[in-house]
Amino acid sequence: MTGLTRRNVLAGAALSMSAAALSSARAAAPATGAQGPGVYRTKIGSYELTALYDGTWFRKIDEKFVRNASGAQVNKALSDAFLAPGIVPTSFTAMLVNTGSKVVLIDAGTGGQLGPASGSMLANLAAAGVDPKAIDAIVISHFHPDHISGIKTKDGAKVFPNAEISVPAQEWAYWMDDGNMSRAPDSLRGTFLNVRRIFADIAKEVKQFEPGKDVAPGIASIAAFGHTPGHSAFSVASGNQSMLVLSDVTNHPWLFARHPDWQGVFDMDGNMAVAVRKRMLDRAAADRMLVQGYHFPFPASGYIVKSGKGYEIAPVMWQPL
Ligand SMILES: [Zn+2]
Repeated sequence: MTGLTRRNVLAGAALSMSAAALSSARAAAPATGAQGPGVYRTKIGSYELTALYDGTWFRKIDEKFVRNASGAQVNKALSDAFLAPGIVPTSFTAMLVNTGSKVVLIDAGTGGQLGPASGSMLANLAAAGVDPKAIDAIVISHFHPDHISGIKTKDGAKVFPNAEISVPAQEWAYWMDDGNMSRAPDSLRGTFLNVRRIFADIAKEVKQFEPGKDVAPGIASIAAFGHTPGHSAFSVASGNQSMLVLSDVTNHPWLFARHPDWQGVFDMDGNMAVAVRKRMLDRAAADRMLVQGYHFPFPASGYIVKSGKGYEIAPVMWQPL
């Protein structure tokens, strides 16, 4: 045995650094301090799908983050995933579907309103070579701010001026109801107000869809209520291939897929959210379906594998189209 330990590796690194310092070596290129574009393409039949990274919210959590697990249990799950305690790095990835006749965006991103590391979707759209004006349709999974705020700029202008917007009818009915807003706990007030900021002045243009209905060519909605009253998943199908877009059926997979019984504070009907999560992940695992999850690590797609009482995600392998 050569005695390879973390300490030995660090000591070795320190030695080679001092050797580098002796020869006063300097890298020929400066460090960039930033990632490259967050764009990943997949083909489903004749459709071209582009995952668009919209950044990460380093969400500080407290004991109440999961209603039915302790802070210690949540920190253990973070540690098992090699993540720091007390912070859930929650990433955002919207999906662009080019059907050949229509360009459809599934969920609209954060608009940069969830911390300084959020809001990279438009830069990534540009890196993907797509003009916001080229988007024909936006399909929304639910009305949490990280999914709808990107529809408008902070000044209230439309970011995608030519896109027809479709939303789940149950979601519209719940969040646009002023009675529901007045009865809601304080923690939801900001969400109600943001829904009005985005939709109030364009209400007449917004189309509502029922679960199970086609929302665009080859894209059908799937009722996945629980996370919110009208939360919807989607199937994207072309030829004999398909992708299941899970939306927020499970938030961070290393917490909520590995622990599918956990009810995050954001799951409005926790019991229903858990039942839907298990039903959909069971189905995805049994049918070996390609899935995408809005809060999965970029490029946010892969396969679901049953493991003990929970599920693991087997990420897609980065590869050419
Ligand atoms: Zn979300």
